[in-house]
Amino acid sequence: MALLPALLRGAWSGARLRCPRCGQGRIFRTRFTANRLCPACGYEFLAGRGEFTGALMLAQGVIMVAAAIAYVVIRARTDWDSTLVGVGLIAFLVLAPLVSYARLKGIWIGILYGSSRA
Ligand SMILES: [Zn+2]
Repeated sequence: MALLPALLRGAWSGARLRCPRCGQGRIFRTRFTANRLCPACGYEFLAGRGEFTGALMLAQGVIMVAAAIAYVVIRARTDWDSTLVGVGLIAFLVLAPLVSYARLKGIWIGILYGSSRA
């Protein structure tokens, strides 16, 4: 399979928090606890040590880009106090990883699977 379709298919499964191999098993058993193995097919989600680092980097990158875009848009389109905007963005930077953790980790797991299948 070509690399890009494999990556996109894996990322899509991960975004749905489903196993990128079978599409059935759940990646997470609780909001913050991932299964080591797919409960449906036994696929090991993060087999190698350090593979989790990629998920962290993906999450940090997506959140930082979103914060930068939000800052530029808010500053360009509003006359809100810059202190208020700064406090809001700091709150966003603290809360966004908690909200997006599972989905971004799922996407990373899917990307790893897709890259191994290409
Ligand atoms: Zn599976």
